[in-house]
Amino acid sequence: MVTSEHCGYNRPVAKKYEEKRDFSRTPEPPPRQPAEGGGPLTFVVQKHSARRLHYDFRLEVDGVLKSWAVPAGPSADSRVRRLAVMVEDHPLDYDSFEGVIPEGEYGGGQVIVWDRGTYSPDEGGRLFFDDREHAQEMMRGGLAQGKISVYLRGEKLKGSWTLVKTKRGDWLLIKHRDEYAQSEYDILDDGKSVISGLSIEDLKVGKTPDG
Ligand code: MN
Repeated sequence: MVTSEHCGYNRPVAKKYEEKRDFSRTPEPPPRQPAEGGGPLTFVVQKHSARRLHYDFRLEVDGVLKSWAVPAGPSADSRVRRLAVMVEDHPLDYDSFEGVIPEGEYGGGQVIVWDRGTYSPDEGGRLFFDDREHAQEMMRGGLAQGKISVYLRGEKLKGSWTLVKTKRGDWLLIKHRDEYAQSEYDILDDGKSVISGLSIEDLKVGKTPDG
């Protein structure tokens, strides 16, 4: 089994992620010392056909991807609140993972990168794409308080979104009313990976990014 010791760090980064998986069996990336870049923080949304289809919404904070499973996926309609269940931190490398997790392994099923891009905390319209340190500080505060406003620059998800923690401990993902809010069509209708162009259905019939 690959452990964090073999990866050359001993910080408890994505420890739960590591404990849940056998990296000799899953193609998912083992956790490793994040090569934290400069530049804006990043986000990724994966579409994951596990026991139940869901979307995994992940925001880079302090060298990991803070992660929520969103069963019904994000909605661009600002009147719609989507349940988001916080799950274990994932390593930064996970932002480009797509493929098939073998049946019987944790999260067994198909995964595509449905969307990704950069983000900034949104403080009443003030954005911090060029101030990574301040952005992360704001994210730490938002996570602790259970209320996060972020501005997404993805290929599919754009503009301001809110994640708010409920009394029950779950979170809700809500599109903020802005120029990107809309209820004309369902943003989930586009089911293709922004990396490979493949859909979950493609992976199910054995297509791979390489053909
Ligand atoms: Mn998942």
